[in-house]
Amino acid sequence: MKRVFRNVTLSVLEFCALIYFSPAFSSVKENDDLIEILRTHTYIALPLEQQIEDEKATIETVTNVLNMFRETWQFKTDKITITPHNPSDRINAWFTPSENSLTFNIAFLGGRLVRTCRSIDIVSHETGHLFLKVLQPVWCRPCRPQTGAFDESFSDITAILFGLWHAPSRKRALKNLQSQKSCLGGDVGVCIRDMQTSKTLSELDSCEVHDLSQPFTAAVHDTLEDHFQILHQQGVTMNNICLGLARNFRDILVQGVLNTKDLKPSFGQIALNMIRVAGPYKNSLGQNFVRRQILVLFYKQIDQKKYYTTGPYEGICDPQTPMRSRNMTGYRYSKANYNDSFCMIL
Ligand SMILES: [Zn+2]
Repeated sequence: MKRVFRNVTLSVLEFCALIYFSPAFSSVKENDDLIEILRTHTYIALPLEQQIEDEKATIETVTNVLNMFRETWQFKTDKITITPHNPSDRINAWFTPSENSLTFNIAFLGGRLVRTCRSIDIVSHETGHLFLKVLQPVWCRPCRPQTGAFDESFSDITAILFGLWHAPSRKRALKNLQSQKSCLGGDVGVCIRDMQTSKTLSELDSCEVHDLSQPFTAAVHDTLEDHFQILHQQGVTMNNICLGLARNFRDILVQGVLNTKDLKPSFGQIALNMIRVAGPYKNSLGQNFVRRQILVLFYKQIDQKKYYTTGPYEGICDPQTPMRSRNMTGYRYSKANYNDSFCMIL
């Protein structure tokens, strides 16, 4: 890996100015990703060495997340611009699609300085947004609440899978997987979102995209946990379980997204495409999607045979979902799995 840092002359800090941005000062070429850092200068006492260390760590996480996906998928990104230390009074970070940029706030929380760029959870979540834009550049996120919420869910699932894939994060990711609460940002002592909420779609208090994303994320989280328990009981080593689950679910997630042709898909459409490619995980994944009301199960009798199929859960934060789309091209259950646990939910 080759890293090239350009020298720049730093501007003089104005006495009264709280913040100013210097021009891009460094570029890093790693694989095919051109990553540019925007350094922010503030009165928040953060030594230059610390800033540089944070910048390198942020670049490393972004690169590693993209490399996780590159194990299976080949893609190129546009130049990525990262602002690791954006001064704020809020713990937050975001991806700006029009600029292909990632911004990470630095903020005081209860007297403690939190640098969100040092959270592997938060950085991998934001990189998830960036990668989803690579996969589906023209999806219209604002057109439909569930499409925007899936963007959040995709990014949270990216953070969960990266934790399992990335050896240094594995211990904490496993602990999260098995605990009652799985906090995004827990690695820097904050809980931006619980990725293991017990709420179903109809139990949500709001249609805000981050809130709305939680049941979808939790369905995948629960499926990972179910399979962790099964594999653990079979005596598979922890490292092999984590790596295997991360790789398999990464590919289910990405293939499900790639197979979704609607430009403003609902949760149900994406979930269906995921379980269609989920192989041995299809029943447990389908079951967890039904439990969280991402999908509903119903059947239709044709020639004295019952075909079970799934459809989107109608109406919740999604006025565009047709009332119970009885589309028989949906996922069908064969006679062989007619009595399996997924169907038993009925
Ligand atoms: Zn997000």
